[in-house]
Amino acid sequence: MKIICIGRNYADHAKELGNEIPDEPVIFMKPKSALLQPHTPFYYPEFTNELNYECELVLRISKNGKYIQERHASNYYNGITVGIDFTARDIQDECKKKGLPWEKAKAFDNSAAVGKFLDITPEINKKNINFSFSKNAEVVQTGNSGQMLFSFDKLISNISNYFSLNIGDLIFTGTPAGVGECVVGDELEAFFEGNSMLKVEVK
Ligand code: ZN
Repeated sequence: MKIICIGRNYADHAKELGNEIPDEPVIFMKPKSALLQPHTPFYYPEFTNELNYECELVLRISKNGKYIQERHASNYYNGITVGIDFTARDIQDECKKKGLPWEKAKAFDNSAAVGKFLDITPEINKKNINFSFSKNAEVVQTGNSGQMLFSFDKLISNISNYFSLNIGDLIFTGTPAGVGECVVGDELEAFFEGNSMLKVEVK
């Protein structure tokens, strides 16, 4: 499996990092080794001094495909949850300045935490999903899928022009505004429509 992530999919987050609003999705990937296994602690990586959380809606691919048309895209994913795209912001800033790839900042071991998946049923309005994220029980990020620059179906279609999608692949769909630092000892929790889906302790 692979993990495909979208950058700058919320205008207010693009602005908070001083980035332009993209006219097509910004895509990067994390390897399988980036997946934080459930109920395992997250250890603060030694190579960074500025670890950021980014809380995002995550889709689970349920059908193999490539060159998927937007109008068929909803047949290719069947699960959704919230996750954390851990980012070594200091390393990423350095990479960006030098025009280098972001992998060291984004794709390191355990940098992708995902919650318990929910089946996507007709009751879930994919264009109006509220999610939020708290640090030490204080809400620091809130988002709604309706604020995304590129909808789930647009993302699936666009990604599949470049990368075949396979059953079990995960798509991190981008973070809203409010990203920030976490330090050792922080308790992180992500919510889907108010329900706790993921808890991570930074050790
Ligand atoms: Zn992200």
